[in-house]
Amino acid sequence: MRLLLVEDHPSLAEGLSDALGRAGFAVDHAATLAKARALAANADYDLLLLDLGLPDGDGLNLLAELRREQAVPAIILTARETLSDRLAGLDGGADDYVVKPVEMPELIARCRAVLRRPGGRLGTVLAVGDLRLDSVQRRVTVGEQTISLGQRDVGVLEQLMRRKGQVVPRRVLEAAVYAFSAEVTPNALEAAISRLRKAIESAEGGASIHTVRGVGWLIEADTTGEP
Ligand code: CA
Repeated sequence: MRLLLVEDHPSLAEGLSDALGRAGFAVDHAATLAKARALAANADYDLLLLDLGLPDGDGLNLLAELRREQAVPAIILTARETLSDRLAGLDGGADDYVVKPVEMPELIARCRAVLRRPGGRLGTVLAVGDLRLDSVQRRVTVGEQTISLGQRDVGVLEQLMRRKGQVVPRRVLEAAVYAFSAEVTPNALEAAISRLRKAIESAEGGASIHTVRGVGWLIEADTTGEP
């Protein structure tokens, strides 16, 4: 899940980025509307977390602009707490409105709640073969057994499982996992795929990740041979 955080308060932005990152989101941060516009023009976000009072304008303007082009879910995070502020935010297209200060676990739960809505990006439990990925709990299991994976690897697996049987291009897998600010080594994705293959095989997940040379990767259930 890739999230765009628009927040001009430096320490709050840092705290939010850290907490959301630990919760499995790849976070890009913008401290101004201008930077947010530039980031949004070049990436496909799953969720927008938007402060309203920004140095170069009102976050509601950005929301209105984005709403004309895409249906990206948005949560407003602001100190403005009057009823008319809330109504302006919700009527302006926000999916939720959170007044600061907010407890981090609640904010993360609200992010997930918005993403779980019909048409939202978070499905229920993804399944390929005997492999299950709970995209809310960020947990991968085979039967009763939990497979231990880092959050980045879970992110790669989620993208593959959401498009099971289809080739997922390299750029999609990389974009899904790494924020712009994170360093991406040339073979980081290959390393993640390799770890996933080993983990799935040793857990007997009944699924395999195939390489489509020069294009990307796909996951599919193993065939069981003769019926
Ligand atoms: Ca602000």
